[in-house]
Amino acid sequence: MKLLVTGGAGFIGSAVIRHIINNTHDEVVNLDKLTYAGNLESLTEVSDSSRYAFEKVDVCNRAGVDRVLKEHQPDAIMHLAAESHVDRSIDGPADFIETNIVGTYTLLEAARHYWQSLEAERRNNFRFHHISTDEVFGDLEGPENLFTEQTPYTPSSPYSASKASSDHLVRAWHRTYGLPALVTNCSNNYGPYHFPEKLIPLVILNALEGKPLPIYGKGEQIRDWLYVEDHARALYKVVTEGTIGETYNIGGHNEKKNIDVVHAICDQLEKLAPKKPAGLASYRDLVTFVTDRPGHDLRYAIDASKIQTELGWVPRESFDTGLRKTVQWYLNNQEWCHRVQDGSYQRVRIGVGA
Ligand code: NAD
Repeated sequence: MKLLVTGGAGFIGSAVIRHIINNTHDEVVNLDKLTYAGNLESLTEVSDSSRYAFEKVDVCNRAGVDRVLKEHQPDAIMHLAAESHVDRSIDGPADFIETNIVGTYTLLEAARHYWQSLEAERRNNFRFHHISTDEVFGDLEGPENLFTEQTPYTPSSPYSASKASSDHLVRAWHRTYGLPALVTNCSNNYGPYHFPEKLIPLVILNALEGKPLPIYGKGEQIRDWLYVEDHARALYKVVTEGTIGETYNIGGHNEKKNIDVVHAICDQLEKLAPKKPAGLASYRDLVTFVTDRPGHDLRYAIDASKIQTELGWVPRESFDTGLRKTVQWYLNNQEWCHRVQDGSYQRVRIGVGA
């Protein structure tokens, strides 16, 4: 099987590609524009494989996407390419509308024409898997409620509204044109190779440098955390075994308040990096509360029973084991972090000095 993965140089896309190359015999084509969030250094462990290919293409570029489909002839598409950072979507929504909505539309049209051109057996087996987020459901009411596949969409931020739009487009292309599509909506991911603007890596790296750990509001927001490698396994299961036309919610059953996540990271660091910056008694002393993000949803939590019952997927990592692995990974991979922080990961990928 040959899979076209869009956004494969990002946090989750690179985990999906490492999972496929390391655990299956499948081939992967990584289609990525390499925005600031794309980092080919997250793929060094698999990029020498003869089963891996990279194409620097924007999903909004129809001619570019058409060429990649024609040349590589994939059996399935996993669409992860997106602008993904909520704060950036508030400061500048345009790129989110362009990539998440127009880009998904462009990819759907290219995929539809490619799929229709395939001979019968390959056409019958083709799949378009759209990867989305639980943020499309908006704020959860009450402490007990969970997002199911039937929960109505009420997105709050430009990011989640653009992802909600893209989910609707994918379902419409299935319903109207018969494109064999599947959608997954997943909770917050964490783990290795996470870009340091996101909560967990930001807190780890700031703490190691003795910098403040900025927490929105009082840190009361609740998110359901999933270790990224568990998500990658779930996505591969859905694209290979999921039922066409279905949606699967994916989550880790790990609901945590942001402040508790930050404290848990500090506690891991006390054990794994006890030698603290000069003058610092405890990593927790670095916690600093800052003005809340506008439109900040209070609670997200996923009911992942459908993917468990129908496809037999359950997460392998608890929040404790996953967080320990994550903190240890950042401690062991300071070079990757420094190259992201000083921007050199972007210079290497376009060949400066080569
Ligand atoms: P990311 O920001 O780390 O990576 C996005 C990737 O897409 C980057 O490699 C970037 O270069 C690429 N990209 C951006 N615009 C592009 C374009 N126009 N054309 C081609 N490539 C482009 O994101 P992520 O955290 O890995 O998320 C991947 C997907 O999973 C997204 O669709 C996101 O909405 C979804 N998701 C993320 C989370 C999470 O917690 N991170 C949770 C649920 C769902």
